Amino acid sequence: MINKVGIIGAGQMGNGIAHVMAVAGIDVFLQDVSEEKLEKALKVIEANLRRQVGRGLLPEGDITSTLSRISLVTNDDHMSEMDLVIEAATENEDVKKSILKDLSGKLKPEAIIATNTSSISVTRLAAVTDRPEQFMGMHFMNPVPVMQLVELIRGIATNEKTFEAVKDLTIRLNKTPTPAEDFPAFIVNRILLPMINEAVYTLYEGVGSVRAIDVAMRLGANHRMGPLELADFIGLDVCLSIMQVLYEGLADTKYRPCPLLVKYVEAGWLGRKSGRGFYDYSGDEPVPTR
Ligand code: NAD
Repeated sequence: MINKVGIIGAGQMGNGIAHVMAVAGIDVFLQDVSEEKLEKALKVIEANLRRQVGRGLLPEGDITSTLSRISLVTNDDHMSEMDLVIEAATENEDVKKSILKDLSGKLKPEAIIATNTSSISVTRLAAVTDRPEQFMGMHFMNPVPVMQLVELIRGIATNEKTFEAVKDLTIRLNKTPTPAEDFPAFIVNRILLPMINEAVYTLYEGVGSVRAIDVAMRLGANHRMGPLELADFIGLDVCLSIMQVLYEGLADTKYRPCPLLVKYVEAGWLGRKSGRGFYDYSGDEPVPTR
């Protein structure tokens, strides 16, 4: 049974994963190279817990006990006690490999390692560890406390015991696991990102304006957000990098990133996080930029 979880990387995803683990009664060690990121993560977790209390999803009294289950650390001294370590650091293969190599040998023999990568091969990451059979992908969706799905990805060497343990944990988190094979971008991003990329082509070719494309998909396909709003929310740099992984990994021109998407990223127009993407976020309401 998994009762102690280490999380490496306290960014957007790491703090969300720590949040849902702590709510489920699991002790969490949240590790980052940056003290500032750790402090910010704890503030975000507290604010999100308060929001859940406000919506009646969590009793008020649970905030203190939930936060008390989260320890913030800048080194891996405690990792030898963990049943599971989830790597949720920056989406960069060298960074991830170096973290995973360092971790190997420091964990107890039965410990499992999971990666939250969106696009890097689970098998390739497993290969740098001392336990490829106890390694797999555990791909949470953003924002973690809200989104129901977790994609579970076996590397070529992952054993069944590991898969079942991580699947049981996902269910304890009140989330729904779905298995995906270890091919570029797994299931959700394999389908979602080409749709977003096609929306950018639709804009690029002048078939519709930003607003027309988003309204069309919200009202015509019943999507909660239009594809361009969604791209701004995900981050245009993230969208581009996933398209590049699909394009290179599957060697098929149907995944060619739209030149307009490339241009926006080159300009530093990355969506909500930079204040401008397909919409301008500097005023009270987002304003379409095309
Ligand atoms: P982020 O940039 O918000 O956070 C990454 C964190 O990793 C930063 O706090 C950084 O300081 C830390 N970090 C970097 N090197 C480290 C090291 N050596 N040791 C410890 N910490 C280190 O990124 P994010 O959006 O939280 O993404 C994290 C992972 O989750 C990526 O693999 C990404 O592909 C995946 N993911 C992201 C999303 C999303 O929508 N953002 C969704 C699903 C999966």
